[in-house]
Amino acid sequence: METSKDTIIDHALAALAGGALGDALGMPTQLLSPKQIAESYGNVDDFVAPTEDHPVSKGLPPGAITDDTEQTLLLGSVLLDSSGGFDHALWIKALVDWEEDIRARGGYDLLGPSTKRAIDAINRGVAPGEAGRYGDTNGAAMRVAPVGIMLPPTQELIAMVAETCRSTHNTTIAISAAVAVATMVSCGVAGMKWRDAIPVALDACRTAESEGSWVAGGRVSARIAWALSLAEKATSSAERRALFDLVGTSVASQESVPAAFAVLALADGNCWQAAVIAANLGGDTDTIGAIACSMAGACGGYESLPADKIGKLVGFDLNKAKNLATALADRRLSHMRAHEVRDG
Ligand SMILES: [Mg+2]
Repeated sequence: METSKDTIIDHALAALAGGALGDALGMPTQLLSPKQIAESYGNVDDFVAPTEDHPVSKGLPPGAITDDTEQTLLLGSVLLDSSGGFDHALWIKALVDWEEDIRARGGYDLLGPSTKRAIDAINRGVAPGEAGRYGDTNGAAMRVAPVGIMLPPTQELIAMVAETCRSTHNTTIAISAAVAVATMVSCGVAGMKWRDAIPVALDACRTAESEGSWVAGGRVSARIAWALSLAEKATSSAERRALFDLVGTSVASQESVPAAFAVLALADGNCWQAAVIAANLGGDTDTIGAIACSMAGACGGYESLPADKIGKLVGFDLNKAKNLATALADRRLSHMRAHEVRDG
């Protein structure tokens, strides 16, 4: 089955807009504990303003997107501007400029730990591949959706994800986590449902575990499979809580990415339900939400997203996202034509 251009663009835009929904719903709850979330907001099921003393989200309006969506769109434009392969210098400059812009806007939600460390190293003269040597947190996975839009789920997707991770997250854990997410998005853009995409993503994730520098930590493919098996069995709210207590919701890729897959499964692929589950988890709620909802959007298509909630997003330009989705879809189609890949 060959996927039509319209379907590719529709699911690509849904991956971007879905990610923005999960990001914005989790914006006021990120970094907090489940108890602090309940005390500050009750159960979060719609966009709310962060508390005045929130460490990084204070001052943002309800529905505001954060670094997850902004860096996703940024990576998308760098992919388009890279002529052949991936332009690392352009990418690093884009990240540095982005952080300066956040500071200028009075924001507190700056570059994450791996990206920050890598850029500091590059500024000291360390080569990009070496700078990302210890980057194992979830920054690569949170912004990887455009790569999954641009390429069909083949070995070339794995290679391109690894390339985009090279400067900041050049580790087995971060690359395999990003590959798992990108493959889900790529399968969704090809018209696959989330359940059918899971085995493809797990295979790609396993393959990617030989990319980058080895760092100690739970194996991502095994942990995603484990989180999904726990989600299948978790029927009560206590069992769901126990699931996330075990899997973890920190910025560690091997926690938050398996958690995002569990969220997707518990929501049965429904984007808004996934956003609500993620926003109340505690820990890296916005990133888990962004990842889960990007995968849900890609697999469900634009119609599956709540239009009223997209209309309330702050900082997300739907037309700009559509242009990006269209340009990435064009790249995907030329790639498929060039390689005669039958997608879908
Ligand atoms: Mg964020």
